[in-house]
Amino acid sequence: MALPSPVARLPERSAEFGALLVKWAEINSGSGHVAGLDRMRAALREEFGRIPGATVEELPCAGTAAALRVSLRPEAKVRVLLSGHFDTVFEADDPFQRCQWLDAERLNGPGVADMKGGLLTMLAALQAFEQTPHAANIGWDALLNPDEETGSHGSAHLFREAPRRAQFALVFEPARPNGDVVHSRKGTGSLVATCRGRAAHAAKIPNDGRNAILGLSDFLLVASKVPAEMSGVLVNVGNIRGGGPATNVVPDFATAELDLRVTREAERAPLLARFDALAAEVSARHGVTLELRGGFNRPPKECLPLEEKVFAAWQRAAADVGVPRFSWVHTGGASDGNLLTAAGLPNLDGLGPIGDQLHSAREFVVVSTIAQRAQLAALFLHRLAAGEISLG
Ligand SMILES: [Zn+2]
Repeated sequence: MALPSPVARLPERSAEFGALLVKWAEINSGSGHVAGLDRMRAALREEFGRIPGATVEELPCAGTAAALRVSLRPEAKVRVLLSGHFDTVFEADDPFQRCQWLDAERLNGPGVADMKGGLLTMLAALQAFEQTPHAANIGWDALLNPDEETGSHGSAHLFREAPRRAQFALVFEPARPNGDVVHSRKGTGSLVATCRGRAAHAAKIPNDGRNAILGLSDFLLVASKVPAEMSGVLVNVGNIRGGGPATNVVPDFATAELDLRVTREAERAPLLARFDALAAEVSARHGVTLELRGGFNRPPKECLPLEEKVFAAWQRAAADVGVPRFSWVHTGGASDGNLLTAAGLPNLDGLGPIGDQLHSAREFVVVSTIAQRAQLAALFLHRLAAGEISLG
């Protein structure tokens, strides 16, 4: 089967993609660095804004930099959302700021896979798709947000309104290291556990102090074993703080933060109820007050029926552009795919290039897979525009 020539020619641009990715990755856009996010958005605006006919909007996000939405043919009956974030976990003061080639294929740098490489895949796919013969039949939005790594709190409203503008979404988070794409993701949340006891001199007999550190520790040890009794659940104690400089005092305060993950929406309420019961038990046992605050910010991304159908078409397109066969896997990490699913917009996630060691100074992307995955996305859009794939 012959590919439309703009799609077939994408791999010729691999060197150009590598150079642009270095430029983007070396613009620091840590989630907390608003000036850097503004610079990164300007760089994206420059490239995406060159797509003929595209309109570009900057959309305010509470507490952070604006998001960018690039749109074409808003009136089209069939519309697709392409989603990606331009923030990274590497802040302005992080030592990891520069790119280096590990070999001819692999580029190491901040956000090269997660997910500036994904944004580049999206850009290249749209550029090629717009030159295919049926492009006028469908419309699209590229929605680029500045706060995914911190939970998309400021941009969440853009995902909630997404189903009014599109019938399906493609999320360009990196593919797994073996090329697999994402079938479903766990939902994520956090809890702050705060224990208040009673201070007393450590040597007082009998000691009427109530040790907040011991109360909290008891809670954390049991809480971290909850996954053994509830399948699909993950609990991580992320940090702990308590007591004061004087060790001859029974400490009256301790606090810790926990990361929570669930596979299914139905696991959320029982997990939180289990923790509440546990906090009450510990409070009674130690004579302390253990309070829990927090909850889930991203619900799990569970697989929807339309996604099954579209994934089959995605795999056919992959075979036709020569992407080695991959499968569809569950992952513990959340993304904006979770928010899209919660809003009711079916989506495929993990469609970006292959990379690994995300969120570390060892992060790398396999640069040739940018053109390859862009070919796949462009061919998929072409078939959708040609009426060979339906979203009904
Ligand atoms: Zn990401």
